[in-house]
Amino acid sequence: MSRDPRYDILFEPVQIGPVTAKNRFYQVPHCNGGGYRDPSAAAEMRRVKSEGGWGVIFTEQTEMHHTSEIAPYIELRLWDDEDIPFVAKMADAAHEHGALAGTELTYAGINGPNLYTKEVPLAPTAMPIRTYTADPVNARAMTKKDIRDLRRWHRNACLRAKTAGFDLISLYAAHGHGIFQHFLSTATNHRSDEYGGSLENRARLLREVIEECKDAVGDSCGIVLRLSLHETLGELGFANSEVRDLVEMHAELPDMWDLAHGTWSECSGPSRFSDEASQQELVEGIKALTPKPVVGVGRFTSPDVMAKQIRTGILDMIGCARPSIADPFIPLKIDQGRVEDIRECIGCNICITGDMTMSSGRCTQNPTFMEEWRKGWHPEKFEARGESETLLVVGAGPAGLEAARVAGMRGYQVVLAEAGTELGGRVARECKLPGLATWGRVADYRQYQLSQMANVDIYFENELSADDILEFGFENVVLATGSCWRADGVSRHHVLPMPNDDSLPVLTPDDLMDGKMPSGKVVLFDDDHYYMGGVIAELLVENGCQVTLITPSAYVSAWSANTLEQASVHARLVKLGVTIVLNRALKSIEAGQAVSECVYSGGEEIMAADAVVMVASRVGNDSVWSELSAREDEWQANGIRSIRLIGDAESPAPIAWATYAGHRYARELDQPDIGDALPFRRELTHIKND
Ligand code: ADP
Ligand code: SF4
Repeated sequence: MSRDPRYDILFEPVQIGPVTAKNRFYQVPHCNGGGYRDPSAAAEMRRVKSEGGWGVIFTEQTEMHHTSEIAPYIELRLWDDEDIPFVAKMADAAHEHGALAGTELTYAGINGPNLYTKEVPLAPTAMPIRTYTADPVNARAMTKKDIRDLRRWHRNACLRAKTAGFDLISLYAAHGHGIFQHFLSTATNHRSDEYGGSLENRARLLREVIEECKDAVGDSCGIVLRLSLHETLGELGFANSEVRDLVEMHAELPDMWDLAHGTWSECSGPSRFSDEASQQELVEGIKALTPKPVVGVGRFTSPDVMAKQIRTGILDMIGCARPSIADPFIPLKIDQGRVEDIRECIGCNICITGDMTMSSGRCTQNPTFMEEWRKGWHPEKFEARGESETLLVVGAGPAGLEAARVAGMRGYQVVLAEAGTELGGRVARECKLPGLATWGRVADYRQYQLSQMANVDIYFENELSADDILEFGFENVVLATGSCWRADGVSRHHVLPMPNDDSLPVLTPDDLMDGKMPSGKVVLFDDDHYYMGGVIAELLVENGCQVTLITPSAYVSAWSANTLEQASVHARLVKLGVTIVLNRALKSIEAGQAVSECVYSGGEEIMAADAVVMVASRVGNDSVWSELSAREDEWQANGIRSIRLIGDAESPAPIAWATYAGHRYARELDQPDIGDALPFRRELTHIKND
């Protein structure tokens, strides 16, 4: 197959200062939760993208000086020469298949609490640190000497980046995370000297630093400015009109403009709240103000949308973070005429939770993300099957679908049996809930891939019992039978079923997804804390209910702070007229009313209710598994070598956990037993003896 000529435009080279990108695919800086703690894992993740055909590959943000760091978040560091080998590994990885390697130098300023280095943070104007955790620390106002120091530190960091082998150096002035934005914004810059006041003054530091960086490394490195598109702070801040003035004023200053929305949550908008190319309005027209190339993001997964962005003169390069995580091979697949093989990002922002929880990145669509080095998982390559030949996958949810896909790729004879009439399990159901349509891609991608494999057969309306499974005699059986929401309120607040006199209807998300809808006054108890509570509240409002959402947490959908959605969820529920009750738990359910209690004082309140919806927790559907386990002595006689329980059936969790479980199961099928050994590689801090 060959490339569709409509997409030729995406494969034109682009000059960025002294260097040239081989095509228009630009992987913008993105975090991964591994950073300086897991340098080889992060480097291998970038190397795979190089293999996947990206023209430009950036690292995550790189702290360029020890006086500004964002612990506990784990990014990269280029504080001094000792860090060079770590980041050099990333540059080498990007180069391996001909991409330009970029690093995003960050001086976090008002966004850096310096919890690790214990240095006093520096900012244009003295004010409290602005972090997600509202750390009780102030930044002090920079003196002229501090500004001179900062300029020198940038110059030195550029020299280190050059030594490490980078072709592109991006200066971070977006998302509220970089000091240049803090100087540009009237919200954070109240100075009265030549670095404050007019836009020209607020841009002075930026101009000085870019000129000095170019002077230091401009012979071989392109200098990119990653600029906020709009701070969305009303009268205050750095608004889109000023962004345009700045670009016009300094049209030739950086070698490239990388335009990103004001806050990270807006820029990485989840599909629940923003569409593909959602920043277009803010970007449109900026390219005409500068002769330098412009790159922007927008969760681009469609090559048609990408080509249109270039053809209509909005962008010169297609910036991608999440789409490149979900499918590191997008450019190559477009180039090879395999567009239908693209594993499209679903915009769930689970990848961001790796960074927010300082753990290791995960992706719902691409379970190999950040496992490329740790486990040696390549997103497109699979080991041939082991000594057994057949696999029965029971359940076609995300776990079962992914297990079938990977086992199919490995060459097993796979039968996928599904009790229902469609593929996707919970995804097929949840994608019909408000705002979650894009999540259906989890099933769509796998459905198409399975349809292309002659060695995978799918049977619908096949609810298998333990007897059926024993009778079939497949060598390997994997049960991915999913989970159910429980109605008894057991979760975190209640560890035993909640008192309930059975006089009120109590429904679960499963009931609602089955079309059973309450009416009138509905009390929704959310002790799950991720997206489901908020989504169900929306669904209830859509169906005419008067909704009160009660949660023991201080926040609605608290865990979705990790997917950058929490504020949007709260705002949407307020707009929909949902009554939000925080820090209270449902205590008991009685005739015509629900009783709640304050989680701190225990004080009770009574609410009139026609129904209760319980978004508490889920239990795995493991009855077939339990029966098969009890009959293990019959396995061998039936030709069965292994039976495993995976995904939500084993342990309910977000969808990404299920695709990971399915992937891991199929990768490890017939692999030697490693006993008590660690199932992944890791790197340890080395001990210094001097
Ligand atoms: P996961 O997220 O772990 O993949 P899901 O709940 O999304 O779990 O999917 C489980 C799937 O398994 C559902 O589509 C369900 O219809 C199917 N299923 C459950 N029990 C059986 C069974 N005994 N035989 C066949 N399919 C089953
Ligand atoms: Fe996209 Fe979700 Fe994967 Fe992130 S985790 S890249 S948002 S599919």
